Amino acid sequence: MEKKELLYEGKAKKVYTTEDPDVLIVSYKDDATAFNGLKKGTIVGKGAINNRMTNFIFRKLEEKGIPTHLIQELNDRETAVKKVEILPLEVIVRNYSAGSFAKKMGMEEGIKFSRPTLEFSYKNDDLGDPFINSYYALALDLATQEEIDALTKYAFLVNEVLQEYFDGLNIDLIDFKIEFGRYHGQVILADEISPDTCRLWDKDTREKLDKDRFRRDLGGTEDAYEEVFGRLGIQ
Ligand code: ADP
Ligand code: UDP
Repeated sequence: MEKKELLYEGKAKKVYTTEDPDVLIVSYKDDATAFNGLKKGTIVGKGAINNRMTNFIFRKLEEKGIPTHLIQELNDRETAVKKVEILPLEVIVRNYSAGSFAKKMGMEEGIKFSRPTLEFSYKNDDLGDPFINSYYALALDLATQEEIDALTKYAFLVNEVLQEYFDGLNIDLIDFKIEFGRYHGQVILADEISPDTCRLWDKDTREKLDKDRFRRDLGGTEDAYEEVFGRLGIQ
């Protein structure tokens, strides 16, 4: 599989076309951004970790019946994926208070909820990805009711699978963001699942093993990504 043209360069990945109109190649970068691109930096080794971790997790999710865009890992940083039409919704699931939720609700971080929450942001960098609900999404034709039902079901299932899996690695899954796309009439999981898009805390030390180390200048960001990757035990 060969890259043809650069289709899109995002904050964390480059996306290339291939000979096959249904197939893209994503190339993961070490670039890191936060606060809607205001803070920029590099997390050395992140591209390879996020690529390999995403693919490892997507394979697990496929085994549990969640369709994903994964076709084939090509090398450390690059993966062939099904080209989807991304739904302009960031789907966020939370098990514990943290980040924007903690701020909005006036809560400290790390409080476990009685049950997971699900919310949407409108994927629009100019607006700073504002919080929306399913009525906004329907009114603005961002997605159909069927698509929202499907991705809601998948998002909670992803949460169950990931929570159980990370539990075995002595990690609490605090929250995460996922994206879905349309592929030949189906809604499938796309983009990535990595320490860039999840909050992951060590169960014993409550140490943050995710992008919050970069966002909040906590130091040890590379080590945290390596730590999560090491615990996955990918050969
Ligand atoms: P951003 O656009 O937020 O800067 P990235 O740097 O991760 O993010 O860029 C990757 C882009 O590719 C994102 O906009 C994402 O929605 C999109 N994308 C991810 N998977 C697919 C796919 N299978 N088909 C088409 N686009 C995808
Ligand atoms: N998240 C993400 N991309 C975004 C916004 C959030 O991957 O553009 C992830 C973030 O890493 C966290 C979860 O979504 O795991 C919830 O983030 P939150 O809404 O608390 O926003 P933040 O505090 O990151 O601004």
